[in-house]
Amino acid sequence: MESTHSGTDIKIGEGLWGEVQKEIVTAADMINLDIGSIRRLITPHRSLSVSIPIRRDNGEIVVYQGYRVQYNMWRGPAKGGVRFHPDVTLEETTALAALMSLKTAVVKIPFGGGKGGVACDPSQLSQNEIEHVTRRYTWMIYPFIGPEKDIPAPDVNTNPQVMAWMMDAYGILKGYTCLSVVTGKPLELGGSEGRNEATGLGVIYTVIEAAGKLNLDLSSSTAAIQGFGNVGSHAALNLAETGCKIVAVSDVHGGVCNKNGLDIPALIQHRDETGSVTGFKGTDAITNEELLEFDCDILIPAALSGVIRKRNADKIRATLISEGANGPITMNGSSILKDNGVFVVPDILANAGGVVVSYFEWAQNIQAYFWTHKQVRERLSQIMTTSFNDVYAVYESKNVSMRMAALMLAVERLEKAMNMLGLFP
Ligand code: NAD
Repeated sequence: MESTHSGTDIKIGEGLWGEVQKEIVTAADMINLDIGSIRRLITPHRSLSVSIPIRRDNGEIVVYQGYRVQYNMWRGPAKGGVRFHPDVTLEETTALAALMSLKTAVVKIPFGGGKGGVACDPSQLSQNEIEHVTRRYTWMIYPFIGPEKDIPAPDVNTNPQVMAWMMDAYGILKGYTCLSVVTGKPLELGGSEGRNEATGLGVIYTVIEAAGKLNLDLSSSTAAIQGFGNVGSHAALNLAETGCKIVAVSDVHGGVCNKNGLDIPALIQHRDETGSVTGFKGTDAITNEELLEFDCDILIPAALSGVIRKRNADKIRATLISEGANGPITMNGSSILKDNGVFVVPDILANAGGVVVSYFEWAQNIQAYFWTHKQVRERLSQIMTTSFNDVYAVYESKNVSMRMAALMLAVERLEKAMNMLGLFP
């Protein structure tokens, strides 16, 4: 643990958790917050560490470690996904929970931030075993979750089926069915219209706003998208609808390009049939590195973190980047892009569409009254557009990056709520 803020007791953790703490401290300094507020802002409210014993299909008993971190709940109940991955740790879960609290504040929805995870490798588990892990995990965190306390959602390697099992386990313990305890559920169990496409669509709402500020005419622009999963493919579909040509896309197997534009619905069909975008008719093959450096106006990294870094940031030719993935640009990469005048919409704003529609799902579940697909899209558009412009106003008035502007806005909203609530006792 190193100490920043020389002369104070502010301590910064390691890895991603340390990075997030540093960002919060920097944003807090930019808006002149006092040291007491900073201490509270960089400390999680509640961290649970639970053991998850299950009997595997072969009779063997194994124990996994699970976590749920409720980073803060000043602006509403904690909200955030549950990840099943061998690399899950308490530190990573804490960092992701902190990022959720910043994201919900940027888009001004009435939630705090939370995150959960189980350190297991679901690729080595049967569906039956995954169900046992999910139910036992839910049982272990049961006293701390609920529609007014903390609302989990899907994340890496969890999906609507896992949410259905969580909802069922919670409902059995409660004694009644409770739709609003998790979001990202199947439509048949109270899921929301538009949830599946929400993150990719939200990314495009930010691209539309940014293009307006940059005087970029989307109908004569070109775009490249890294990652063609949930976020990347929905971003591609919705961006193509503006008239923008999607000239390159990639996935874990490689990329394809065509300077005249790709037929996105046909490419989605090809991916669904073959498992990859590679080999799509009428295209040339490119690598993931080449995709990032492709000659285009707009770049949407929607796969992995850390892909735009010191080594390649100088080679990026796009003038507008919207971060579909979490953390696709490193700090070094970010400063090179800034020097080169590339406009970057940061992840905590750009990919917030998923949590916004999770909020809609929770609100619909509480009302027991469901919205149409059109209503969901309109309300998502309104929140993403307003949020973009809120961040842009800070960007312009304070002459900082869009990322710092989003952080400053989020930290200010969190600090206001926190200090209005005060301390107890
Ligand atoms: P996904 O699993 O549906 O798709 C991931 C895509 O990335 C796939 O096309 C995969 O082939 C590709 N990919 C994986 N490894 C790659 C590699 N080494 N090089 C190039 N491509 C690679 O995931 P998703 O839900 O689309 O999420 C993508 C990113 O967006 C992640 O960073 C995720 O954390 C972030 N995100 C997702 C959501 C959401 O609602 N799904 C919300 C916020 C942020």
